[in-house]
Amino acid sequence: MKNLNITINFDMDGTIADLYGVENWLDYLIAEDTTPYAVATPLLRLSALARRLNTLQRNGYNLAVISWLSKSGSPEYNERVTAVKMAWLAKHLPSVHWDRITIVPYGTPKENFCFSPADILFDDEERNRNNWTGRAYDVQNIMEILREI
Ligand SMILES: [Mg+2]
Repeated sequence: MKNLNITINFDMDGTIADLYGVENWLDYLIAEDTTPYAVATPLLRLSALARRLNTLQRNGYNLAVISWLSKSGSPEYNERVTAVKMAWLAKHLPSVHWDRITIVPYGTPKENFCFSPADILFDDEERNRNNWTGRAYDVQNIMEILREI
């Protein structure tokens, strides 16, 4: 298998997981309750996404997640959120073998994890896309873009 040294990175909240669609999500987070992260529904058809990602990985792309923890969570809450996010990925994208899962404090510059101008980021936050030093895309056309790679 060739290694292209190109990584396709996914944000989670607002990109593949509908955290913000969970009613009262912010109140839960402020109360350090992990429920919204667990019950967030997928924002796209993840079986199709998984198939496409697995093909791309076979063709030499690396697959990664870069996700922020909640704003001002305690270390203990951050640990629980990390576990729930990992469980969400395992539940919804069980066939995807991520090369890297990076779950970092809120506000960590995602461009710290961009290692090539060819690296790709899908992220709903404009600031993350603007700061990314590779190729960055909003969330509207994820499947179309992955098909054209
Ligand atoms: Mg996001």
